[in-house]
Amino acid sequence: MYYFDPHIHMVSRVTDDYETLAKMGCVGMSEPAFWAGFDRGSVDGFRDYFRQLTEFEPKRAGWYKVQHYTWLCINAKEAENVSLSREVIKMIPEFLDRPGVLGIGEIGLNKNTRNESIVFLEHLDLAMKTNEQILIHTPHLEDKYQGTRMILDMLCGDSRIDHNRVLVDHVEEHTIRAVLDEGFWAGMTLYPVSKCTPERAVDMVEMYGPDRLLVNSAGDWGPSKPTAVPDFILAMRLRGHPESLIRRVVYENPLDFFSQSRGFEFTPPDGKPAVISNGKAANVQQPAL
Ligand SMILES: [Zn+2]
Repeated sequence: MYYFDPHIHMVSRVTDDYETLAKMGCVGMSEPAFWAGFDRGSVDGFRDYFRQLTEFEPKRAGWYKVQHYTWLCINAKEAENVSLSREVIKMIPEFLDRPGVLGIGEIGLNKNTRNESIVFLEHLDLAMKTNEQILIHTPHLEDKYQGTRMILDMLCGDSRIDHNRVLVDHVEEHTIRAVLDEGFWAGMTLYPVSKCTPERAVDMVEMYGPDRLLVNSAGDWGPSKPTAVPDFILAMRLRGHPESLIRRVVYENPLDFFSQSRGFEFTPPDGKPAVISNGKAANVQQPAL
């Protein structure tokens, strides 16, 4: 089955992972900007990182016919440095019209601090002024519930934001309902040690239905598994769910959400136009003959 991984940090993965993902049916992925494993010292560090995300990673993915997209921001871990964050936010528009850029992300909160909130709100303002979609990181474990609530309050406090163009990631059982009830998209991150297992993600599909739900692997610096979405596909099959429902969650929903970005152009590997439930014409290209 073809699938998308809508949140995977390929800069932390080796090229062999691209090959493995392609063999398992991955035809597209989106890579939000995140932490480099260390705090960067200057805006030029981010400029170089954005070049990696928009120039080299799409090329590396293309070696295996995987279509690569990206999101740009300064992440919450580095947002304590507000002056550097402001320099990065000012520089981001240099990259927004590059092919494959889907919007601003992953922004959000890490330890739910005041500085993180300031930088989050300034990213929201940038996204509204540049008409970009937004991808959001919610905090880990003990900070998740409160952080998600703070994020939703900030999003709902800005009347310019179209909730259907915002993806709130790393939802779990205690945060998913609030995200969906407000009309946002929700991403379930499948992780070996924290966050969500494939089986818990299947539970949430059964409880809430497939609308506005995505699954991703994160594939980041920690113990993560880049092939977690195929694990979810198998877990859905073992529960007896039809292929059409599985395809909806892992392929059609990402296309549906991403199609709202002007930087999204996708060539379906089978040449079949994907079903886009919002009725809008997706920027879907027919493959060259
Ligand atoms: Zn991430």
